[in-house]
Amino acid sequence: MDNLVIVVDMRVEAVRGDITTQRLDAIVNAANSGLMGGGGVDGAIHAAAGPALLAECREVRRTAYPGGLPVGYAVATGAGNLPARWVIHTVGPNWHRGERDEADLAACFASSLAEAARVGARSVAFPAVSAGVYGWAGATVARVAIAAVRGFEPSDAVDLVRFVLFSDRLYDEFAVALRA
Ligand code: ADP
Repeated sequence: MDNLVIVVDMRVEAVRGDITTQRLDAIVNAANSGLMGGGGVDGAIHAAAGPALLAECREVRRTAYPGGLPVGYAVATGAGNLPARWVIHTVGPNWHRGERDEADLAACFASSLAEAARVGARSVAFPAVSAGVYGWAGATVARVAIAAVRGFEPSDAVDLVRFVLFSDRLYDEFAVALRA
């Protein structure tokens, strides 16, 4: 008998909303290198997840990344009280500090999906990493993020990527980039 080959495309979508309420397997946190929480989406995720998330982050720092998580890397933890099962923490490049290489931003999305695949998360929500305090233009983040997830291999490791955008403007920028 011939081998049966089933090709399932990864679905990539954008929604306007709050990432902390997403019921997907994993949500991605735009963390800082210290992994100790912060403002923006990081603060919202820690507030909604509760202290268990910070405890896990401390443990990751102590055991795997004593010097902090480098830009472009990603690491998964549990999700505390969130509806998701995992939080994947990634550190975006900071435009204001001169971190302006798109490859570093693309690496955040690719390494987060690699972490998702490693833990078995098949649906992943992303915020607009680096488009807040870290100062990257939303349209650039949208273009780089979408190219990175569409180019991710193995493409059958994750079924759904959902960009969850916190403003109408960012939502529009992602919607435009998705159609390009
Ligand atoms: P960074 O430091 O990587 O720029 P920020 O948290 O400052 O991270 O911003 C990243 C993006 O996350 C911004 O576009 C911000 O509007 C957005 N954001 C903030 N809170 C939430 C939330 N609860 N859900 C989804 N996105 C959020």
